[in-house]
Amino acid sequence: MAEEYGTTSCTENTAGETAGIIYRETDVIPDRIHFIDNRVKDASSILILGHVRPDGDAVGSTLGLYNYLKDNYPDKKLTICLGNYSADFKMLSCEDQVLHELPKNASFDMAIACDTSSRDRLGDFADAYFQAPRRICVDHHVTNPGYAQESVVEAEASSASEVLYTLLDPERISLRTAECLYLGIVHDTGVFKHSTTHKSTMEIAGILLEKGVSSSQIIDGTFYHKTYNQNQILGQALINATLELDGKVIVSLLSREEMDRYHATSVDLDGIIDQLRVTEGCEIAVLINESMYGDCKVSMRSSSTANVSAVASQFGGGGHVKAAGCTVHGKAEEVKKKLLPVIATAL
Ligand code: 5GP
Ligand code: MN
Repeated sequence: MAEEYGTTSCTENTAGETAGIIYRETDVIPDRIHFIDNRVKDASSILILGHVRPDGDAVGSTLGLYNYLKDNYPDKKLTICLGNYSADFKMLSCEDQVLHELPKNASFDMAIACDTSSRDRLGDFADAYFQAPRRICVDHHVTNPGYAQESVVEAEASSASEVLYTLLDPERISLRTAECLYLGIVHDTGVFKHSTTHKSTMEIAGILLEKGVSSSQIIDGTFYHKTYNQNQILGQALINATLELDGKVIVSLLSREEMDRYHATSVDLDGIIDQLRVTEGCEIAVLINESMYGDCKVSMRSSSTANVSAVASQFGGGGHVKAAGCTVHGKAEEVKKKLLPVIATAL
């Protein structure tokens, strides 16, 4: 049953649970720059979470929030939990505070999820999130059903880091918070080149630079920087790639054996899909890599109007119109066979 909360609606999500308040682009958020300040006021212990296999935006937004709260509320007990991510992100302030497992018997007054579109994307931390009596979400995924009590979900925004910036008091954003948010924006825009890079994105990036952020350190040090093995597996993925559906789709498969040969984990595959995406004539790029659990992680990018989020949704995944993913059971070749007919309908 839909219920109105001011300018935002409270709707029912696909799982049949009543969704909380969702502020979307068109909604006016009262006292927006104090959104986070007003929410955390009465919480003494706060859990901060991002999505599984955290990318630059997940790490940048959660650590950005952590640093903002640490700077401005030194008495609050903050806990940040994330899965494994690229070693390049170790340059961020307080990165050494990130836990990869929940502390035993921990409980929290409030939990805040950033860049996380659904409950299952919280992975092993989902239960801890839902045990917190107050739950907030800051996100930019169009598929977010509003699993938190209060969500700000702006699907046009470049990144969760950009959405988060607008919910913070800019005067109280320190250099170290700025570095985290800048990194998140850089990664989710592919260094300011994806179509989600708006005037507001550049303006916010400019304000963050004014705070002293070194753009070359973040862009070269975390986006373009690759280890030897990462470059090797990139080369392998490019060699493995084939053109499908009249050359409109490029698909690359990475087998378990190849992942092992280059000692690669999913973290080492960052950037491969972007290289596939720029292949001439291709509207959709697909990377399928076999995990250790008998399934495949699928990444998809669209460089036309094709909606890869709709394809991913049919396999239980999601994401954005131009960047989406899912996990599909089977060997890479089988997964490719399952995916291609669905991709064909998206072209
Ligand atoms: P990537 O291909 O870089 O892993 O993910 C691209 C986008 O799709 C990201 O916004 C990510 O959050 C989303 N995404 C990737 N895999 C999944 C998945 O298994 N489920 C959902 N819901 N979203 C995914
Ligand atoms: Mn993101």
